[in-house]
Amino acid sequence: MRKNIVAGNWKMNNDLPQTEALISDLLKQEQTSNAEVMIAPTSVNLFQAFETTRLSNIEVIAQNMHFAENGAYTGEVSASMLKSVGVNTVILGHSERRAYFNETDEMLAKKVDTALANNMRVIFCFGEELEDRKSGNEEEIVENQIKKALFHLDASVFNSIVLAYEPVWAIGTGETASPEQAQDMHAFIRKTLESKYGNTVADAMTILYGGSVKPTNAKEIFSKPDVDGGLIGGASLKAEDFFAIVNAF
Ligand code: PEP
Repeated sequence: MRKNIVAGNWKMNNDLPQTEALISDLLKQEQTSNAEVMIAPTSVNLFQAFETTRLSNIEVIAQNMHFAENGAYTGEVSASMLKSVGVNTVILGHSERRAYFNETDEMLAKKVDTALANNMRVIFCFGEELEDRKSGNEEEIVENQIKKALFHLDASVFNSIVLAYEPVWAIGTGETASPEQAQDMHAFIRKTLESKYGNTVADAMTILYGGSVKPTNAKEIFSKPDVDGGLIGGASLKAEDFFAIVNAF
């Protein structure tokens, strides 16, 4: 079922005391919307974050995981490790993972498979670069990213997938896609899903927008019919700003 979700991607920010302080601030905020709220701290702090949010509505999620179940992958984290510390949702395919850690569509397809095999929910990120948008290729790029990582899946698993459209040119740049640009792309994404899986899957898909969402622009972006929520980077690091976005629905 389509949901409203606001997920905070903390990236490589906040050590343990800072994680505890931010969570303590988050727990003081009042939620007036019905959005699902998620935070993605760095992996070493997931357990502490899970423990301290246990009695709240905040779900702790991971920023990444490896596709292998276990083995000789120094420095990596597996699905079962995440699950063992209370994490049941993982962000996959973030543009920073693709750009700085060479994550390919093929690798991401394997990660998606592993997450689903471990009964995890996936927030799958994709989006075009500035040059793609300038040359008018944004739809082709996005369609390919979705097809390559997800179109081998059975329709029945799509209720465990959330999509996050994140134009790379809008991430951490202060530049936001206009609400119309976000809506146009989200409608295109839904159409792409419909072409393969039919209307029921496409209509039920939760599609988040990510890219410099702030308290000042969240309401307008979330008002668009095909935008179901946001993946929030910078603005998720301040409890008041994050909850202003959560409450923008
Ligand atoms: C992100 O990293 O997913 C993101 C959207 O970052 P920001 O909100 O800072 O642009």
